[in-house]
Amino acid sequence: MATARSVKVGTVIIGGGWPVSVQTMWKEPLESFDDAVVERVRHLGELGCDILRFAVPDMKAAETLGGLAGFSPLPLVADIHFDWQLALRCMDFPIAKIRINPGNIGARWKVEEVVAKARDKGVPIRIGVNAGSLPNDLRDRRDRAAAIVEAAEREVAVFEELGFAEVIVSMKASDVQTTLEVNRLFSSRHDYPLHLGVTEAGPLIAGVARNTAALVPLLQEGIGDTIRVSLSSAMEDEVIAAREILACAGRAKAGISIVSCPRCGRASFDTHAFTARWSDRLYSLKASATIAVMGCVVNGPGEARHADLGITGAGDKVVIFRKGQISRTVDPEDADTVFGEELAKLE
Ligand code: SF4
Repeated sequence: MATARSVKVGTVIIGGGWPVSVQTMWKEPLESFDDAVVERVRHLGELGCDILRFAVPDMKAAETLGGLAGFSPLPLVADIHFDWQLALRCMDFPIAKIRINPGNIGARWKVEEVVAKARDKGVPIRIGVNAGSLPNDLRDRRDRAAAIVEAAEREVAVFEELGFAEVIVSMKASDVQTTLEVNRLFSSRHDYPLHLGVTEAGPLIAGVARNTAALVPLLQEGIGDTIRVSLSSAMEDEVIAAREILACAGRAKAGISIVSCPRCGRASFDTHAFTARWSDRLYSLKASATIAVMGCVVNGPGEARHADLGITGAGDKVVIFRKGQISRTVDPEDADTVFGEELAKLE
């Protein structure tokens, strides 16, 4: 069951059966930008980020983001609360989407101005309802999931009254069960594209666990068109976590799969350090391939043989496998160089 409606966000289509896209959010105030910022945006794209969102708390941030949008290889989203003028200003630039809720803009004429400009510029809008900031009359309702969905439906209704359909909806909570319930309930009633995520999900390990527990079932049920894994960690971690969640759900685009051993007292090769050194490069590969990084001869050769490229410790040597065959046997200090050479053949 894919969302029937689709919405175009720059070069990415959300919904309509298109691949589930990956998002993250810039974690610092964007006071200015330089080549390093553009390069980091590009690198996020290499890792698999499709859409990048920025908080826009004031007019300076709106103009800085607008400037960056002209150089960005990724579609950029402006995340705005309360001030409709910020939304209007962002749409003077090639911003691909804005996130704003009609309910916190204020007067109806302000919402109408935002919608008129969004329609004119072809900019879609994401409604983002969070469990932590529900309207006063819904805040204490016993059925929290129903309250969140009702809050989202109120926001959607405003856009529907104005005949504006380029809408994506997110309903986020910090716990797994509520995330499951709100998205199942909303998707049973509406066909707007859904942005999924567990918000304020915690530090890296807790956040990945919670997002995986919530997003995998939803994605397997065909619910969800774009995801953001919110972590108290780097943007790059959010992107890689999102890719792995899509892979767990069987919804991944082509890409790399890393198999690596946890290491034990038999290890003759430091798989942790090796995997950490190569992770960034591996996740940037465009090829679909399985890479095995193994510590010893107990399970190493078996896993490495089944991978497109494998490396395993073997006594005082390191063995490289390619497509099931031993390719090279080298000293550990040469492992990175030789692995890099073999990896280049996959690209
Ligand atoms: S592959 Fe070898 S080192 Fe790694 S966990 Fe298995 S037995 Fe231990």
